[in-house]
Amino acid sequence: MSDLLVVNHLEKTYTIGGGFLGLAPLRGVNAVSDVSFVLRKGETLALVGESGCGKSSVGRCLLRLETPSSGEIHLNGQRIDTLAETELRKLRKSIQVIFQDPFSSLNPRQRIGEVLAEPLRNFGVTSGKDETAARIRKLIEMVGLPADSALRWPHEFSGGQRQRVGIARALAANPDVIVCDEAVSALDVSVKAQVINLLRDLQRETGVALLFISHDLAVVENIAHQVAVMYLGRIVELAPRDTIFERPRHPYTHALLSAVPIPDPTHRRTRVPLQGDLPSPFNPPSGCRFHTRCPLAFDRCRSEVPVLQSVGTQHRAACHLNDLPNAANPMLTPPATPEGAHSQ
Ligand code: SF4
Repeated sequence: MSDLLVVNHLEKTYTIGGGFLGLAPLRGVNAVSDVSFVLRKGETLALVGESGCGKSSVGRCLLRLETPSSGEIHLNGQRIDTLAETELRKLRKSIQVIFQDPFSSLNPRQRIGEVLAEPLRNFGVTSGKDETAARIRKLIEMVGLPADSALRWPHEFSGGQRQRVGIARALAANPDVIVCDEAVSALDVSVKAQVINLLRDLQRETGVALLFISHDLAVVENIAHQVAVMYLGRIVELAPRDTIFERPRHPYTHALLSAVPIPDPTHRRTRVPLQGDLPSPFNPPSGCRFHTRCPLAFDRCRSEVPVLQSVGTQHRAACHLNDLPNAANPMLTPPATPEGAHSQ
């Protein structure tokens, strides 16, 4: 698979403050810090972490809903983070988005046919009424909605069906990448599984790449090829899905994984509770940003920022424990789940 989307050293800092009459001091929040990854054609990369870890800010920078503070983003070999407003139209066609809330993301006064016709017209995908109508019928069939959906209104659909409309709308322009920003988080468990299966099927059919933003590792397990775990703006671990689930090398990933249920009732993961709350991004901890909650923290963690470094094949982690000899590294204890338990 060839590289499609390449993100290098992405930073996003928001300036907040001013308050009433601008008297309060301005403060900078470093929401995204030195984030780098590659998304390959036809693959899914999941960005995972707690609310406020910066994963949605990364998605918004890719969509150019935010301008990155620094770093580079390349799509199909073209740098896109420096595109002027007038050049963004082509980018919008190539990178589409599915939002979390299927209820607020559709205009209640637009029939579904009109919702789907809009991107077809805006991006010049079809020409003429007949071609547009045929493409709308095809999109409706692809996402498994009733054949008469084009004539119906958003309020006639359930949450899961509305999210299928959102998927059809994102696919309409034949994008290279779809950013799925907590796209299944608002759905019931069974509907969630159906939508995940649909996204996987559509990816096989169309070759679209997905940047799947989620706080839920259990969901990610069923769709991702690669997983990037984020904590307070930084990627702390990045690896193929099976590697992350079977051999995590960062205590934060380990803690997140320990909360993921295993379908086999004869196996249980040892729960690793996270200590305390997520620190304020206004004043992140020194050294390793995770040290205030890490059960394995030691002196070096409080002063030195760990580098995201190779710890195995296509596997990188940012933790000082990985500099220790293997026998002294508590992360190298036997995996909590049997090998192969996570094959897709
Ligand atoms: Fe924990 Fe230290 Fe590793 Fe950070 S660097 S995750 S504090 S052991």
